[in-house]
Amino acid sequence: MTALAPLPYETPADSRDLAVMRQQLGRDMRGVVSVARRCGCGRPAVVRTAPRLEDGTPFPTSLYLTLPWLTLELSRLESTGLMAELSDRLAVDEELAAGYRRAHERYLARRAEIGEADEVRHISAGGMPTRVKCLHALAGQALAEGPGVNPVADEVLATLDGVLPDLVCRCSSTGTEEPATDEEPAR
Ligand SMILES: [Zn+2]
Repeated sequence: MTALAPLPYETPADSRDLAVMRQQLGRDMRGVVSVARRCGCGRPAVVRTAPRLEDGTPFPTSLYLTLPWLTLELSRLESTGLMAELSDRLAVDEELAAGYRRAHERYLARRAEIGEADEVRHISAGGMPTRVKCLHALAGQALAEGPGVNPVADEVLATLDGVLPDLVCRCSSTGTEEPATDEEPAR
């Protein structure tokens, strides 16, 4: 397998990032490898996680969206029936389907860089390669890899304000986080 270009936005996760993830999720983020993408304010948006957690559980979603406001936006879209619509289009749009299959293969190759879990070796995330089952997982890949890798996620993210090309901070809009400052986030 040819090596992939590095993830374009990947940065180390420090202890402050881990604290922010805890605040974002309401629990500890497990299996953290790095921060694959940050919000405009610097908070983690997509976390790269190990394919196997510390307790041995396989964890296929290795690009995990943690950003609360974007998580909410995508949940809202999921509730509109958009996923069934996109899945139907994949069945008839060959170009979209081919791009989505390439995104699936990229997902597996990217995850293999940081380890393998046999149970999920051929399972990527979000319903790939033929269905759309979780917009959060697809968005995690698209934000981590940059545009042009996951055509379905790119299309969904393009319908949201301030996500492409740059992730503009809307952290204060969820009411769960302080507006961006240079200070330590509230615990
Ligand atoms: Zn932010």
